[in-house]
Amino acid sequence: MSQHFDLIAIGGGSGGLAIAEKAAQLGKRIALIERSKLGGTCVNAGCVPKKVMWYAAHLASAVAEAPGYGILADLAGVDWSRLVEGRNRYVAAINAYWEGYVERLGIAHLKGTARLVDARTVAVGDELYSAEHLVIATGSRPIVPRLPGAELGITSDGFFALAEQPKRVAIIGGGYIGVELAGVLRALGSEVTVVALEDRLLWLFDPLVSQVLAENMRTSGIEIHLEFEVAALERDEQGIALIARDGQRLGGFDQAIWAVGRAPNSRELGLKAAGIEVAPNGVIPTDEYQNTQVPGIYAIGDVAGREPLTPVAIAAGRRLAERLFNNKPEVRLDYDNIPTVVFAHPPVGKVGLTEPQAHERYGDTLSIYETQFTPMRYAISAHGYRTAMKLICAGPEERVVGIHLIGDGVDEMLQGFAVAVKMGATKSDLDNTVAIHPCSAEELVTLKEPVRRPGTR
Ligand SMILES: Cc1cc2nc3c(=O)[nH]c(=O)nc-3n(C[C@H](O)[C@H](O)[C@H](O)COP(=O)(O)OP(=O)(O)OC[C@H]3O[C@@H](n4cnc5c(N)ncnc54)[C@H](O)[C@@H]3O)c2cc1C
Repeated sequence: MSQHFDLIAIGGGSGGLAIAEKAAQLGKRIALIERSKLGGTCVNAGCVPKKVMWYAAHLASAVAEAPGYGILADLAGVDWSRLVEGRNRYVAAINAYWEGYVERLGIAHLKGTARLVDARTVAVGDELYSAEHLVIATGSRPIVPRLPGAELGITSDGFFALAEQPKRVAIIGGGYIGVELAGVLRALGSEVTVVALEDRLLWLFDPLVSQVLAENMRTSGIEIHLEFEVAALERDEQGIALIARDGQRLGGFDQAIWAVGRAPNSRELGLKAAGIEVAPNGVIPTDEYQNTQVPGIYAIGDVAGREPLTPVAIAAGRRLAERLFNNKPEVRLDYDNIPTVVFAHPPVGKVGLTEPQAHERYGDTLSIYETQFTPMRYAISAHGYRTAMKLICAGPEERVVGIHLIGDGVDEMLQGFAVAVKMGATKSDLDNTVAIHPCSAEELVTLKEPVRRPGTR
């Protein structure tokens, strides 16, 4: 006999917790299956521990600026163990919060690995559970390519398990995780080399951001090698070496970190038994309402392969619960204009289309506004990280279709501007907003002449 529920969520991360919580609040009988700690990637090996490390790195960089302001501070070193201990304590508190909250909501928390038996039944060990609705929210895991010596490198999961700070680190990958880990390690004093297959870092972001990011990273002392295709890792007497396809060799690292993307956790779920075919890259195909090919089975979050971000998984989960159980058949997540931040040093933010994407969608109707400057913060201190901003406007009404930022404070700045973009703001709406002075954000509402007008590229 299997136990029956209104909904079973597989995966107790951002998406699974969100739908389980909302559906339980709507009075439904819910089971949540998780094989590890509640909170998923974000809490245990992603956003949360990463942001703690970013704060530490932020403080360490501020020390370097202190003397210019007459503050007599010196970076005597980093107590890595104390930092990791504090971080782990914080993460454990979040795990404990979720354990208690799930219990208080009356959700059945099933501990173990789930496998689908058919379109309504899930096995956890020897037990069977069935439900009207199955939600797959199993997330993703770091990719380690099958190359000679690949096992000499760790992944972002391994980074969070490091008991000691590495001195010389190679980061393989120029996407957001590679860029973030590079910034953290460099600010904390490691020597860092980043290699990327592409001809620019953050290739999914606007080219202006990639360019200024590389300048800022080089200013901080990070070595960058673009179009470097790693063919193998080797260990010699100097440490770990990266061997490129064209024969280049970069060596002497005590740690190499793979940051070459993430793969959906879909293959071990027994999806075939339920009638679901995954895409060649492991993504579970879904429509705009998160429905899979099989009625009653849904996929949300990283495993559904859209924007791999925590708030996206949460928003998709909550909306799906509203649609299934709150008589709101049209409710779904709109995947347009999702803002995102990369916690580099200084950070990067974007909402909407990049300039190449905007050209593709709106042709030659674009007005592009840009500015670059060194913020006031660095006027009397040592470093001089650059800030850059780009505003992409489309059509004669100059609707803002993309905002791209890099610089101190843009991580906090972007959310409000994302609201404006979502509401359809135009350039004149920004012009009509009185600036806040003195701060970097004011530049976004005081941009004057476009650097490129409609009809030009
Ligand atoms: C280093 C790093 C930094 C990040 N930083 C950010 C950030 O700053 N901001 C942001 O928005 N996003 C960030 N992300 C991305 C974010 O963590 C993910 O997008 C988010 O966690 C996805 O949520 P999810 O519910 O799809 O999956 P997850 O949160 O990964 O949850 C999936 C859960 O399913 C469980 N599971 C898998 N298979 C099974 C099974 N068969 N049975 C039972 N349980 C199973 C897993 O153990 C896991 O707990 C970061 C990710 C990484 C790796």
